[in-house]
Amino acid sequence: MQRVGDDIFRLGRRFHNFYLVVDKGRATVIDAGGSRELPLLEAALAASGLSLDDVEALLITHGHTDHIGFARRAADFGVAVKVHEDEAPFLRDAAAGTQVRPTEVPFWKPKAIVFMIEMVRAGAHRDYRLEDFETVTDGEQLDVPGRPRVVATPGHTAGHASYLLEDARVLCSGDALVTEGLISPRLGPQIMADLFHADPAAARASAETLSSLPVDLLLPGHGEPWRGPIADAVAAAMA
Ligand SMILES: [Zn+2]
Repeated sequence: MQRVGDDIFRLGRRFHNFYLVVDKGRATVIDAGGSRELPLLEAALAASGLSLDDVEALLITHGHTDHIGFARRAADFGVAVKVHEDEAPFLRDAAAGTQVRPTEVPFWKPKAIVFMIEMVRAGAHRDYRLEDFETVTDGEQLDVPGRPRVVATPGHTAGHASYLLEDARVLCSGDALVTEGLISPRLGPQIMADLFHADPAAARASAETLSSLPVDLLLPGHGEPWRGPIADAVAAAMA
């Protein structure tokens, strides 16, 4: 666990992240890692004197297995899971969305191999779809800890959303804008390789829209936090 803001914690492992936002003894979680990673969340909550009972919402950026891992179990514990309305079909049914096409992943690249090992350790090779969740819409500000605003960022998947914590000037960007690729050795703000996106052109267009947001801490789904005006991050990613 890494403290990345006043009451914002980065969880996950080397190659993938999810986030815990704490406010006045209540919590919001953004993304759900792999299916085996609920204990990471429980430990982070415990470190703040909290438990799953204190989680008001689990916000999902998109329906890939390294982002929804323990969401179904969290829902079973009574946590309200929320996702952008356009991602709802994919959250229910893996066949309704676009998965990364395994035949296109260059597994001979060392980084891809390490990433795949991490995915198995995290339980992201298992796919648990959900029935119990709520939908949110673009621009909606959610009345949960951190007061996150929904920012639709389609392209990586059809209903991908990022979450803007306006007061903290933080954006949890999921896989719309990352700081580490899963096959490229490049570090720093970047758009994932085309093969990871359902619609690469839409993914680039979504990333560009982020540059006008009031953000100076980028918390991506993959890679280290990035500090600075988000317009600089977007410009670097587009270069
Ligand atoms: Zn991802």
